[in-house]
Amino acid sequence: MWGLIAVAAAVAVTAAAIAAVAVVVTAVVVTAAVLLAQMASARKDADENFIDRVISDPVLPCPRLTAVWVWDPPHTTDRRRYVNLPKAWDPDMNGREVELKGHVEPRIPGVVVNFNLIANPGNEPDTPAASVGASATSEADGSATVRLTLPVYGGARFKVGGKTVAMAQPVETGELTVWRKVFYQITDMESPAAEPTLSLAHPADMISALTTAFDPVFFEIKPSTKSSATTPYQAHLTQEQRSTLETSLRAGAADDRSPFKMNIVMCDTADIVGTQEWTDNATTAAVTTGWILKWDHDPTVIHAQYESAPGTWSALTNVQITAAPGQPEWIAVSGEIPGFTAGSTVAVRIKYRYKVGNAGGWGGTTGTLFMCIGRDRRADAAKPTGADLQQALAHEIGHALGLVGTTEPWRDMDPRDDGYSLRHCGYKTAGGDPRCVMWYMLGGGGARLQFCCSDRPNDCAHYLLRTDYSGLGWI
Ligand SMILES: [Zn+2]
Ligand SMILES: [Zn+2]
Repeated sequence: MWGLIAVAAAVAVTAAAIAAVAVVVTAVVVTAAVLLAQMASARKDADENFIDRVISDPVLPCPRLTAVWVWDPPHTTDRRRYVNLPKAWDPDMNGREVELKGHVEPRIPGVVVNFNLIANPGNEPDTPAASVGASATSEADGSATVRLTLPVYGGARFKVGGKTVAMAQPVETGELTVWRKVFYQITDMESPAAEPTLSLAHPADMISALTTAFDPVFFEIKPSTKSSATTPYQAHLTQEQRSTLETSLRAGAADDRSPFKMNIVMCDTADIVGTQEWTDNATTAAVTTGWILKWDHDPTVIHAQYESAPGTWSALTNVQITAAPGQPEWIAVSGEIPGFTAGSTVAVRIKYRYKVGNAGGWGGTTGTLFMCIGRDRRADAAKPTGADLQQALAHEIGHALGLVGTTEPWRDMDPRDDGYSLRHCGYKTAGGDPRCVMWYMLGGGGARLQFCCSDRPNDCAHYLLRTDYSGLGWI
């Protein structure tokens, strides 16, 4: 019944309504005719642009869907990256920012390449992350570049994978390993003019012997542009003389590797001086200190006094230095209390310099390191060898790199050194033996020739690994 009603309604459509429909149909026909004309025109343009295409050519797949990514040399091989040095010195080798280059084959533009970072599973646990661009699109010649940012962490290893949509697996770069590089000059002290003559030239294997300590913490030590010099002979260098010599050598040592350059100065001796005050309540006019090791390079006595009235100190008279019988390096200081009254007790004090010991070397964050070789060279003209100097020199360079100093901004702040007056590395074996090249005394082998590395993160090796040396300010 509903259908019938509908038919009846259609029949009832008025003549006016039919006229309106006719207008709409006419408008649609006109519009279609215009579109047809435009499409014909577009086809004509296309035909003119692709006139070589013969309709019977086989249909090729779209090259953008089949192109593969290839890394360009040298990015295909494992390499060291010197992250502390200015990139401008050598963009292919220096700096944390690495431009990795490759191309798509065939060499066409517009191909999207996606990149992924591959960290070596053997990286130290506290290695910071690297980062790499997510993707790049090939240029007109098919090439593309992606930036890898490495952490400063020595020994960190990373690769980058690159993949187009056509590839099942990414293709990997060679592995980049974070290294640091510093430069050196060796300044040999000239021989003494008078007999006995003595060569103070450095041993030939002095630098190569350092790899024992510095390879494990990813430092290369290379000759600087100016890598040698000489300085006039001085028998002994006090602290003031070392400072003066350092200043005078600094200007001549600066070169195009500055400020990443150290100056290793060979010297005869630069022993360690100490001062001490001996006190006594004297019951006789003559007073004498105990035996002390003589310091040859400055006056022994700083003051020698007695308490002439409460709180008032006056000079002792007849102050003398006496050597021990048969042992001239041991001395005592004596003096007399003027106007001494028998039976009285008088406070006395004698302050003196004495020799604490022989220094193997001296160094600091300034980048000038002194190696004292005269003592060994006198004992044996073939000594010291590079291996003999390895411990002292690695130790001083460790200081120059900021380890266990007292005021340097890079001081290792590990609590193990709290209350440890010498401020050197105190890690020891279970048996109580020191086991680090930053122990304060020379001697021993094995672990004593290297930076301790078994107590991460607060040991000497991990301190050197994680520190950013791009701001190094030596010479
Ligand atoms: Zn030291
Ligand atoms: Zn240590």
